[in-house]
Amino acid sequence: MLIHLQQLPEGYSERTSQLPIDSRLLEQGVFKKDVACRARIDRIQQQIHIRLTYQAEIEFECSRCLNFFSHCISDSFYLIVKQRQSLASQEENDDDFVELYYEADAEEIDISDAVRDEIITSLPMKPLCDESCAGIDSTRFAQKNRNSGEDVDPRWDALWKLRNRSEDTNSR
Ligand SMILES: [Zn+2]
Repeated sequence: MLIHLQQLPEGYSERTSQLPIDSRLLEQGVFKKDVACRARIDRIQQQIHIRLTYQAEIEFECSRCLNFFSHCISDSFYLIVKQRQSLASQEENDDDFVELYYEADAEEIDISDAVRDEIITSLPMKPLCDESCAGIDSTRFAQKNRNSGEDVDPRWDALWKLRNRSEDTNSR
């Protein structure tokens, strides 16, 4: 998503655009189409304030039942774009918004990566097809548990061994 500095008027303006899907986004889920973006822009000379709203339809894999499901995400964030000054005069970013800098001779600013970063951080770490998803069909695992008698996670084995070893050492 490009902002052309020459064509960008002083004061308020609006843009809509489609954000192309790149490989980083595809790692998160299957995007059905490009992300729809709407930018409300306020330009005050060299400073550009953008309230960006995006909407996308994504196909996730449920982290419990492993079935695929479609989900619509929509959110907005605040972006401030400034002309780069000397390093010393750059203020601290207080993290309430994303800050981008452009060079004095730049003709356009690409905010695509900033938008993709925001989308990726807003996506669920463990997507669920439904809050009450019951998980994988348990009949598939019933046979296994019946054979082993007690259902003990094999990862505990190493801890039990460590504990037994330290008890041996203490009793000596
Ligand atoms: Zn599920």
